[in-house]
Amino acid sequence: MTPTSKHSDLLNTLNQMKEHNLAEGPASAELRIDRLQRAIKLIKENHRDLSDAMSKDFGHRSAYQSATADIATTIKLLKDAIENLSAWMQDQPVEAPEPGMKAWIQNQPLGVVGIISPWNFPINLSFGPLASVFAAGNSAMLKPSELTPKTSALLAELVARYFAPEELTLVLGDAEVGKAFSALPFNHLVFTGSTAVGKHIMRAAADNLVPVTLELGGKSPAMVDEDADITQAVERTLTVKTFNVGQICISPDYMMIPENKVDSFVEAAKAFVQHSFPSMQDNPDYTSIISDNHYKRLIGLLEDAKKKGANVISLAPEGEVNYDDKSRKIAPFLIFNVTDDMDIMQEEIFGPLLPVKTYAKPEEAIAYINNNPRPLAAYYFGDDTERQKAFARNTISGGLVINDAMTHVSVETLPFGGIGPSGMGAYHGIHGFKRFTHEKAVVLQSKEGASGKRLRAPYKDKQAALE
Ligand code: NAD
Repeated sequence: MTPTSKHSDLLNTLNQMKEHNLAEGPASAELRIDRLQRAIKLIKENHRDLSDAMSKDFGHRSAYQSATADIATTIKLLKDAIENLSAWMQDQPVEAPEPGMKAWIQNQPLGVVGIISPWNFPINLSFGPLASVFAAGNSAMLKPSELTPKTSALLAELVARYFAPEELTLVLGDAEVGKAFSALPFNHLVFTGSTAVGKHIMRAAADNLVPVTLELGGKSPAMVDEDADITQAVERTLTVKTFNVGQICISPDYMMIPENKVDSFVEAAKAFVQHSFPSMQDNPDYTSIISDNHYKRLIGLLEDAKKKGANVISLAPEGEVNYDDKSRKIAPFLIFNVTDDMDIMQEEIFGPLLPVKTYAKPEEAIAYINNNPRPLAAYYFGDDTERQKAFARNTISGGLVINDAMTHVSVETLPFGGIGPSGMGAYHGIHGFKRFTHEKAVVLQSKEGASGKRLRAPYKDKQAALE
């Protein structure tokens, strides 16, 4: 099928969904809850098959990681929407400027929302946005990633079983299909993926003036201040660098530590990894890199850094290979003496490699963060409250966690999203509901209402009254 005919097929589907929405009117609270419950049912009744499919797609993926990050967290988002829906849906009365007049904000569904998702958490990053999209009363077209073909095919089958096509339609395909998909006149388009592709999405959406939510990536820094508990900082950072082997948008991408802490940092890192993963290649807890291309890309980053003078330290347990192209498992690496001309300091890493920069003064670390593109997340380790506040004030990022990493994504009451090159717009909880809702301004004028009279001619006396 050519991209053009694909586009016309997709357009037909979208138009049918829009027509159905118009004919049915806005989704009631009951229907929204029913859709959210069916999404939970789909995941719960098929979680084993979904986990197996994800594991096959990754080569190997820890079942525990799928159960927590893809199954449990997604169900939590869907349940949170069900529990809060009635409060979120209420119209919000606002103060009106004259007696007798009433004014309020009416929450209206946008219509049909397009969702494009990546491969790293294929359920969470498809059904997470969907929780907000459904809660807000919309229907959706979803295009998951081609890099998880088994999971995406299973999702397509399940979606067709649990949902009517006018509620949710899943579209399978690669970047070419993605291009056709993002050129559709949706009522909103939410994209989770790389910053580079995000630019294409925004351009394609602009042709139809489709509003976008872009959940992108980037290089999220972790700064360890002089008073921080170094062991705790290492453990909490490396937890996220080894979970899904760092294939996480908010995985700490590089660290900055005081220059006198290098030895204690390396010692703590070795102890932590060797305790967590006494073996690696045969260890079911250690996940593979998603594809040969991504495996080669990561080894390339390592080689490039070495060639340009970096000091590379493998954290593989004794007797283990550092990486293996059959299993696509790469051990965690610390990379010291990094410079900005290295690819590893230019690209988002998205894997278990951790560049560590040292600083003489904390201000240097903050200046480095601010001289680089605004990241999706920033992490700060240190116990002094004033210094924590100063870091929060002086750096700009989508989210910030103090004394931990990644934790903000699981706090549904917080908006989750980036800023500038790491994204635009945020979702989760009420923030997601608002993101996919039109806040319509409504005024009810009273019989006595006088506001229009001010505008009526003749103006002579009115003008005089103004002076
Ligand atoms: P990607 O940008 O390569 O692909 C994402 C999706 O876009 C896929 O479904 C793909 O088929 C589609 N696509 C690719 N090219 C397209 C095009 N030209 N037009 C339309 N669609 C196109 O990203 P990925 O490799 O799947 O995921 C990794 C990236 O996603 C990382 O940069 C990561 O930081 C980011 N990410 C962000 C978040 C977040 O919440 N901010 C979450 C997870 C991943």
